[in-house]
Amino acid sequence: MRKFFIHTMGCQMNEYDSLRIASVLEKMGFTEAESMEDGDYLIVNTCSVREKPQHKAESAIGRFRQIKRKRPEVKIGFCGCVAQQEGTDLLKNNKDIDFVVGTDGLHRLEEVIAHVEAGERLSDTQVNEGGLEIDIFSRTVSVSSFVTIMKGCDNFCSYCIVPYVRGRERSRTETEILDEVKYLADGGAKEITLLGQNVNSYGTTLESSPSFPELLNRVGEVNGIRRIRFVTSHPKDFSDGLIEVMRDNEKVCEYLHLPLQAGSDSVLKRMNRKYTYAHYLERVMRAKEMIPSLALSSDFIVGFPGETDEDFEATMKAINDIQYDMIFAFNYSTRPGTKAENFEDDVPLEVKKMRLSRLLDMQKKIISDKTAEYKDKVVEVMVEGSSKRGSGQFYGRNRQNRVVNFTSDTILDSGEFVNVKITDPKANSLTGIKL
Ligand code: SF4
Repeated sequence: MRKFFIHTMGCQMNEYDSLRIASVLEKMGFTEAESMEDGDYLIVNTCSVREKPQHKAESAIGRFRQIKRKRPEVKIGFCGCVAQQEGTDLLKNNKDIDFVVGTDGLHRLEEVIAHVEAGERLSDTQVNEGGLEIDIFSRTVSVSSFVTIMKGCDNFCSYCIVPYVRGRERSRTETEILDEVKYLADGGAKEITLLGQNVNSYGTTLESSPSFPELLNRVGEVNGIRRIRFVTSHPKDFSDGLIEVMRDNEKVCEYLHLPLQAGSDSVLKRMNRKYTYAHYLERVMRAKEMIPSLALSSDFIVGFPGETDEDFEATMKAINDIQYDMIFAFNYSTRPGTKAENFEDDVPLEVKKMRLSRLLDMQKKIISDKTAEYKDKVVEVMVEGSSKRGSGQFYGRNRQNRVVNFTSDTILDSGEFVNVKITDPKANSLTGIKL
């Protein structure tokens, strides 16, 4: 039986797409290889949001190439955002790649593979601006599963390539989403994470649909689902209605990822983020006031073109004022094809590195203080598996999305909910004992 290996980069949307790729290949009789060396179809699912994942994709292809040198029958596939962006150029410039499939072509993957099996090399990067062609796909259901509710983005932040590679915003219908959630719940999923580039604007491209807060309530009505999460929210659309559902629907977890990107209004303006820091602060303060146990996370770009020392200090102040539970911060690098490509990348790399390191140091201190507060607290954990460290060791996450490693004197199954007393809180994970 032939085997496939998929190397996934980037966001949860890409992880979801990799599940779709796996499902098509399994339907065609392939099985998943345990390692790259065992694979007959080696596929990289790429991300072009930042520079590093793009470099990593190139190095994955380099490793695939070495395997193909030894076994020429191996096929190499290039999928995801970089595929969507570069299309047939990838085939022209790299003779080891057999097929290129963009972010909108996954529902045609079976056809593409059939051509590859017949010895052709081909690229499918056609953008489907109409509907969102995602079938419910068979997959090994995990207790914590993703469901895409929309694709693409209409926001055109000046640094971001997503609207160009994933196309304009399109929402799946409520029926499609609920059918997929029911399929997952029947297979044992207990926690659902709804995915979209801007979930708050869910439904605006449909003739009639529930709002995003209403959709959360409907997902919560599906039998078997006990926790709901969602990413990503855009601050300009983060409504009181959503905060109310997060407060009132006990299945919606107290965790919010709300990317700020920068604390300076002039930088936010050049980023085309369409909100001011004052607006953002008002929104998070309102959410924290209404949901006191809310955990907040955010993304930051350091050294955006034109970022002055003063601008950067505004970002530092914002992080200090808001006291995030987690942040993802990166140095700015130009993405070809974006509006910011025309801005002068004028913050020297050394300055970017120094600013990023100051920012991460401050966040480390914030996390350390917040983590210490967990000592002796009891948290609800959904078991996600047993740890490799030895018998009686399990792991899962609390409602605020913190990883919890814990011991239990009874055998636990994935998907069980237990109360854990935290004995040793650390920044990366909390350690405790099941009560
Ligand atoms: S909201 Fe902005 S950063 Fe997010 S995907 Fe859309 S354009 Fe990119």
